[in-house]
Amino acid sequence: MNVRLFQCSCNYHLRFGASSCSYCFKPTPIWNRYGFTIGMVAVLAVVLALVFSA
Ligand SMILES: [Zn+2]
Repeated sequence: MNVRLFQCSCNYHLRFGASSCSYCFKPTPIWNRYGFTIGMVAVLAVVLALVFSA
């Protein structure tokens, strides 16, 4: 997968899911990580389930 949604502070386009910039090797923002995205989807799913079960 070659999705580049976010930029590093060095303006390099980060590969989505990368935990560090492949140009300057700084850690990427949390929202660039797969784990964060999966967590957000899980939270949304739980919220939607609660809304529709009420
Ligand atoms: Zn960088």
